[in-house]
Amino acid sequence: MDVEQLVAKAKEAKQNAYCPYSHFPVGAAVLYKSGEVITGVNVENVSFGATNCAERTALFAGIAKGYHKEDVMAIAISGDTEDFLPPCSICRQVMVELCDYETPVYLSKNNGEIMELTLKALVPYAFTDMDI
Ligand SMILES: [Zn+2]
Repeated sequence: MDVEQLVAKAKEAKQNAYCPYSHFPVGAAVLYKSGEVITGVNVENVSFGATNCAERTALFAGIAKGYHKEDVMAIAISGDTEDFLPPCSICRQVMVELCDYETPVYLSKNNGEIMELTLKALVPYAFTDMDI
């Protein structure tokens, strides 16, 4: 699976987002070393704090399927945005917990442009299990 295909999976998943409050659908796709791709969407709640982002939905589903940090190959994120849509800080911290620091993270724009970053670039000086 190439980068464009992974981003396409995130974009496709976005159609299933549950976002009746923000009307801002987001999709994420996590590629595992097995070749499996697990997608996630944002799932909002009238009690806003109970909302879950697409990235966390996908990563948590991966955990439920038995995948671990060392199994993650890459993550792609897609939203209806003119600029690159980065993960929020809560998702970044979850990614630090559940992905390798060198994991590629692909941000995308509506026009199809893709930016590759590493988790390390997204979360410099991360709070990790080495800090406790
Ligand atoms: Zn988030």
